Amino acid sequence: MPQGTITKALSGYYYVLPEGAELAAANTITCRGRGVFKNRNITPLVGDRVMYEETENGEGTVTEILPRTSELIRPPIANVNLVVLVFSVTEPVLNLQLLDKFLVHIENTGIDVLLCFTKSDLLTADSDASGAKDMTVAELERITKLYEGIGYTIQKTSSKLHEGVESILQHLDGTVSVFAGQSGVGKSSLLNEMISGLNLETNAISQRLGRGKHTTRHVELMPLTNGGLVADTPGFSQLDFMEVEAEGLGDCFREFAAIAEGCRFRGCLHLHEPDCKVRDCVADGTIAASRYDHYLLFLAEIKDRKRRY
Ligand code: GDP
Ligand code: ZN
Repeated sequence: MPQGTITKALSGYYYVLPEGAELAAANTITCRGRGVFKNRNITPLVGDRVMYEETENGEGTVTEILPRTSELIRPPIANVNLVVLVFSVTEPVLNLQLLDKFLVHIENTGIDVLLCFTKSDLLTADSDASGAKDMTVAELERITKLYEGIGYTIQKTSSKLHEGVESILQHLDGTVSVFAGQSGVGKSSLLNEMISGLNLETNAISQRLGRGKHTTRHVELMPLTNGGLVADTPGFSQLDFMEVEAEGLGDCFREFAAIAEGCRFRGCLHLHEPDCKVRDCVADGTIAASRYDHYLLFLAEIKDRKRRY
């Protein structure tokens, strides 16, 4: 039985891109869902890998949903294996606390992340820096080193200058990805750059992205011609720590998780416990103070949430 990936779900129809078919929206097969799927009471999601039967009229029926590797609620997509986390170097100002918060949420899903710093054309030369709002080349370099040191992959881009766009596309090769990040950082612009460079229907896409960013709308996975599917809507718009437990927060800070075995106590929260390896590393500068500060803030937020519910 043929297999494929659902790229769009609308009004009871599932648009399935057959396995091996050239990645283009035109190649999808319009399918109906079977009411009940084998032993499981689940409904198909965009991103689901499915088995389908072809019917006479060139359409099809989805007969089985293959096991999911991941499942996002917002946006509702299965099998996402890369989140492109987008922050602008300025406008809006690069907020490392918010950046760390997004990273915690992504780490908590277990999905891989690519960190993208946009609007590099707005960087200020070190010699020209005047206000606190300016992001200098040297400061961005420092931030980049910090996060690369933790193990994140970073890509600097400018949609305005069409810089770094090809590299992003290479990173997205063979992945199912969603873009995440606060509004105004340039996610839509970057998507438009990526897809227009590939000569897909850019007008239709930018119109769709432009229309009603705040209205609920369907999710669609856009095929990239050099491989990969990307969601046309941002993910992780709501960042409350509903799903992260205090005990699990440290695991969402990669550099803490890597050494936490060295803490004397299993389940150490890295607060006041004796012989805490994480605090030792903060003290000797191996772990950045900003990361530890944010950890403490988030921990307080999680505990506060617990108290209220
Ligand atoms: P989104 O809300 O994250 O999708 O952000 P948009 O793509 O809508 O961009 C927000 C604003 O930033 C728009 O006014 C864009 O023109 C501007 N913008 C986006 N990318 C760049 C860039 O690379 N350089 C500069 N200077 N401005 C950009
Ligand atoms: Zn500890």
